[in-house]
Amino acid sequence: EREALKRLRDLPAVTRDGTSIVLNANIEMPRDVEGAMDCGAAGVGLLRTEFLYMNRDDLPDEEEQYESLKGIVEGMQGRTVTARTLDVGGEKLATSLGGHFADCANPALGLRAIRLSLREPKLLETQLAAMLRAGAHGPIRILLPMICTVSEVRKVREILIRVANRLKRRGVRIADPLPPLGVMIEIPGAALSADALATTCDFFAIGTNDLTQYTLAIDRGDEQVAHLYDPLHPAVLRLIQFSTEAALRARIPVSVCGEIAGDPRYAALLLGFGIRELSMSPGSLLAVKRRIRALDLVEATRRARVIMEQSDAGRIAILLDDFNALA
Ligand code: PEP
Ligand code: MG
Repeated sequence: EREALKRLRDLPAVTRDGTSIVLNANIEMPRDVEGAMDCGAAGVGLLRTEFLYMNRDDLPDEEEQYESLKGIVEGMQGRTVTARTLDVGGEKLATSLGGHFADCANPALGLRAIRLSLREPKLLETQLAAMLRAGAHGPIRILLPMICTVSEVRKVREILIRVANRLKRRGVRIADPLPPLGVMIEIPGAALSADALATTCDFFAIGTNDLTQYTLAIDRGDEQVAHLYDPLHPAVLRLIQFSTEAALRARIPVSVCGEIAGDPRYAALLLGFGIRELSMSPGSLLAVKRRIRALDLVEATRRARVIMEQSDAGRIAILLDDFNALA
């Protein structure tokens, strides 16, 4: 079994009827680069940068972040690295920023992710500067977590351009042209305004972990309600489908990078929606590739339509299992 998966490493991720799929890795640490390369990932679809802020009392400066990101970009040897700005708050806490979260009644709905970055522009500028500089060493994309409105994207883009100009004036080497700026679609409101967001940004990454949490009002870390947490709920699927179609209409790249992207059972459905790029933990990549290589995309697209007529997550799971058993 392990040997069979290993042989898959060097085979292309292409459906039985010939459509190429981009399979990227989610990584959380510089040392994860090795795992991403080992499984034959096409790139890093999600680099969580929280590691830079964890388990310390001070904040990482631009130089430290630059060196760390540069190592990751170089380690990926020309494959694109999608670096996400800081996503703390909610269930993700950073001790060095603890003061911001002390009196927050609803952390998952509070000062999280991009909201904190826009409240503390210095923090965001430092990250963007490090990313722009790392982008001089290989292809990079910049991804924003927990985006909810177009004005947030516009503000970040203004800051990005300002930071880039400042670095250029100082003669510092940065990515040229500026890296694509994309947004996580992980809030229902963002998904429902995906057509508007698509006009302000360069790519989407659909984060189904938070999208499920916020759509179903189920804390993703609460065991008491874990049995109700189901990304196959038709509401979640409709939001994924709507966002995907908005991106395809606007002709911007769209990927799925939540946990479901790494589950081979869901591949047929996501591809059936029009998704052609998935990002997952490196350990899942070969199993997903195997599923994709066995998949008939025309049939998957037809099945996705049937599935979207269903009203029950359990029934959807059965239909998906039936289809997966065929290949
Ligand atoms: C998600 O929410 O689906 C996601 C990929 O981001 P994270 O798990 O880091 O919140
Ligand atoms: Mg998320």
